[in-house]
Amino acid sequence: MSEKNIQTDVLVIGSGIGGLLTALRCSKKIKVTLATKSTLSQTSTRLAQGGIAAVQDFTTDSFEEHHADTLRAGHAINKPKIVKQVVEMGPEIITLLKTIGVEFDESLHLEGGHTHHRIAHVKDMTGKVIEETLIRAVRKSKNISVHEHMLAIDLLHKNNICQGATFFSNNKVVAIEARETVLATGGVGQVYLHTTNPIVATGDGISIANRAGVKTEGLEFIQFHPTALDESKSPQLLLSEALRGAGAHIVNTKGERFMKKYDERGDLSPRDIVTKAIFEEHKKGQVYLQFEENKKSIHKEFPTISAGIKQKMNLDLAKDMIPITPVAHYLCGGIKTNANGETSMKHLFAVGECASTGLHGANRLASNSLLEAAVFATKTADTVLKNYTKNKIRLSDKTTRLTPATQTYKLKSLRKKIQTIMWEKVGILRTTDGLKSAVHDLNLIRPLLPPPHIINEEISTTRNLLEVSLLIAKAALARKKSIGCHWRA
Ligand SMILES: Cc1cc2nc3c(=O)[nH]c(=O)nc-3n(C[C@H](O)[C@H](O)[C@H](O)COP(=O)(O)OP(=O)(O)OC[C@H]3O[C@@H](n4cnc5c(N)ncnc54)[C@H](O)[C@@H]3O)c2cc1C
Repeated sequence: MSEKNIQTDVLVIGSGIGGLLTALRCSKKIKVTLATKSTLSQTSTRLAQGGIAAVQDFTTDSFEEHHADTLRAGHAINKPKIVKQVVEMGPEIITLLKTIGVEFDESLHLEGGHTHHRIAHVKDMTGKVIEETLIRAVRKSKNISVHEHMLAIDLLHKNNICQGATFFSNNKVVAIEARETVLATGGVGQVYLHTTNPIVATGDGISIANRAGVKTEGLEFIQFHPTALDESKSPQLLLSEALRGAGAHIVNTKGERFMKKYDERGDLSPRDIVTKAIFEEHKKGQVYLQFEENKKSIHKEFPTISAGIKQKMNLDLAKDMIPITPVAHYLCGGIKTNANGETSMKHLFAVGECASTGLHGANRLASNSLLEAAVFATKTADTVLKNYTKNKIRLSDKTTRLTPATQTYKLKSLRKKIQTIMWEKVGILRTTDGLKSAVHDLNLIRPLLPPPHIINEEISTTRNLLEVSLLIAKAALARKKSIGCHWRA
């Protein structure tokens, strides 16, 4: 280990809504080190358009209905106690975000799978506003020390007790020793050739946890969002479900609506159902999103999406047929946690998209993920603060064998190969032969990577991409029957 180790009370890894909120809440009482692999704002959180699901109008809506919608979307394999906890904390989370400075619009949006308008939003830039507001608060806190461009490599642990993590930063290996460690490293979308997820979503936290023997679950449940812009470049622009809530329809090349053929809820069916329908219709021709009449007000309501479509395809959201396609979007499973965000390793927590709390079951209900991340950031921070006074473990003085790479490795083509295998064989529709062949092909890539102790950003994230791909493919192979977003032929 070349650098002097950093010691901290709480180490939070990741700077999306999960990491930022956990850090802020812990920082009221103790010192926090927040490490993130890029700049603070490089997150999925920043890209979230639709908003946060939370019951707010109790004259028309209720916790029971949000609970029922979540279970219906998740095909009832969600954990009901967790669903209850998350749904009932919805209004508190909205108030918390408002207190920190997020100014939500007055209206509530409607999204697929929801029986009521209950999505709190800021136009179609909810995630951006939340991310920027939380970053401002974190920057102001004297108790939070922020480290950008600090890539977590592995956990420091002994006898199933977590003591921090090793990082790669400025071409050096650094250890951060911590009494409590929180993984808030987001999702895995970059595992696929086509995704809405940013470049940082390479499943690092899940690979890191798995290498340390921490339990994961539900990795076969990859949600493919039905309506991304059908462009060749990834990440692809998401066309929020709230557009359908505002009156847009899914149509075929002839302009015919077909969703009712697949589900009586039509355009606003849950995501797994709409994805499967578009997947089938795509075999016959291009599928589009379209407003029935020229809806000019949509430009004001959805300025980000409207400008994105104009810039990328020179189309007008209000009146043109916008080509759409399903792409990888969200991981419903992840690192297994309990109701307090605790993992199977002592003093290690997981929050946000990298965690599997049991909320989503086999398919996430739209806009439940920002809510989940915020609820478990709160629960995790409260547990960290409670543990902290009791936690007497001595910080370790560990060294590792990790060595920064001294030569360049050409890994771009290997990455593309992993993403292609995953898209073609572990994608929307999965077959036994395809999954077996994916596991076989992915295993052939392993020996092509540099030895495990050689690291730099590209090597580590490619290694994580491969490991998490194998975990997803094996989990998909093990679940023989179709359910939710896991679709077996
Ligand atoms: C386009 C898009 C639209 C969405 N819209 C909505 C929506 O409307 N409503 C909703 O509820 N959800 C939505 N989602 C999902 C939601 O945004 C995410 O699930 C949520 O923001 C995840 O938050 P997070 O804190 O877990 O992770 P992220 O926000 O992804 O943050 C992860 C952080 O971890 C860091 N990191 C990763 N690996 C490492 C490492 N090895 N070392 C150090 N740092 C690391 C990353 O750099 C990043 O800072 C959307 C997602 C996308 C992509």
